[in-house]
Formats: sequence, C-alpha cells, structure tokens
Amino acid sequence: MIQEQMTVVKNSSIALDTFEMVLTGKTIPQRANSGQFIHVEIGEGNEHMLRRPISIADLDQENGLITIIYKVMGEGTKWLSKREESNDLNVLGPLGNGFDLDHHVGDNILIVGGGVGVPPLYHVTKRLSQYNNVTAVLGFQSKEAVFYEQQFSQYATTYIATDDGSYGHSG
Ligand SMILES: Cc1cc2nc3c(=O)[nH]c(=O)nc-3n(C[C@H](O)[C@H](O)[C@H](O)COP(=O)(O)OP(=O)(O)OC[C@H]3O[C@@H](n4cnc5c(N)ncnc54)[C@H](O)[C@@H]3O)c2cc1C
Repeated sequence: MIQEQMTVVKNSSIALDTFEMVLTGKTIPQRANSGQFIHVEIGEGNEHMLRRPISIADLDQENGLITIIYKVMGEGTKWLSKREESNDLNVLGPLGNGFDLDHHVGDNILIVGGGVGVPPLYHVTKRLSQYNNVTAVLGFQSKEAVFYEQQFSQYATTYIATDDGSYGHSG
C-alpha cells in the first residue's frame, strides 16, 4: 500500500447522483487488483480527518489509469464530485484483498451486486469473461440510478433489477 498524488483525468455524472472519475498515477494502478479499493483524502487542510473508501471499478495498467464510480452521499463525495480535470487527489492504496482469480473458478459465473456494490464487479467481470461465460445481475434503486449496463453487457449477459420496478426486473 502506498500514498500517491493522483491526477483527475475525467469526472462526470453517469446516473442519478453518481459520478465516474478516471485517475492517473504512477504506482497505485500498477499494483492494484480487481476488487480492491482506494482511500481518498477529502477537502483542503484538516476539515475531513477520515479518508473515503471507494472501490476500483476499472483498471488500465498499461496507461496507469484507475476508474472509480461513486454516489454522492454526504460532504466527502460531494466534494469529490466537484473535482475537475488536472486536479490532484491524495490517494492511499491499493487496499483490500481483491479477487483471487489464479485458480479455476468454474465455467459459468454469476456476478451479483447492487448500487455502490456494482463498481468493484466491473473489472473482475472483464477479466473473467476472457475464459468463462459470465452472467451479471445488477440492482439499482430506480431507472435514473442505473449505470454501466452497456459496459457490463460487453462482457456478460446482463440483467438489471430496480427496487421500484421503473426499469428491468421489479424488486
Ligand atoms: C471498502 C468500501 C468500498 C466502497 N466503494 C464504494 C464505491 O465504489 N462507490 C461508492 O459510491 N461508495 C463506495 N463506498 C461507500 C463510500 O465510502 C461512502 O458512501 C462514502 O465514504 C460517504 O462519504 P461522504 O463524506 O460523502 O458521506 P458521509 O458524510 O460520511 O455520510 C453522509 C450520510 O450518508 C450516510 N451514508 C454514508 N455512506 C452511506 C452508504 N454507503 N449508504 C447509505 N448511507 C450512507 C451516512 O450515515 C450519513 O448520514 C465504499 C465503502 C467501503 C467501506
């Protein structure tokens, strides 16, 4: 785990209160694995003592890029949503064990997640799809909250469910 100044390449809204941010850095992307997370320092000075944990949604090690997808919940993620291209962020990572894909996990794989639990499943879905049939079942609160349906569909047979039934399977 290391601490690194990473630079925002992109930060844009992709669904209701949900942002996709691409960060570039020298070391963390090289060391990261699917399913791990980063700890992001929030705000200037000491106004927010605790870093915010955000999962690594996608990784491009060749170009030193990490993608995170986050929902604006409170002050920390609101501050994050205001970051612009070329702003620096202090990041600690990679953290957590990530997914162990070194042994055979089966030919037919079911990936299930909902809401902010969806982002850490994207990169692992991409990797598993190289050798396996992958089905992804993704849950969201409503149609407006759905993200990455097309991206998952490139690598997995993808089903969407919403709590209010406004899109995909109801409930
Ligand atoms: C290992 C890990 C990985 C994570 N990965 C992601 C990710 O990829 N994308 C993402 O969007 N989030 C992720 N989270 C959750 C994210 O860290 C929090 O939503 C974030 O820290 C909130 O910070 P904040 O300052 O915006 O809100 P705070 O000011 O800390 O909280 C504001 C209000 O929202 C409530 N709240 C905070 N978080 C949640 C929540 N998750 N659900 C419901 N109520 C909440 C609090 O109780 C409080 O009332 C992850 C959390 C962990 C532990």
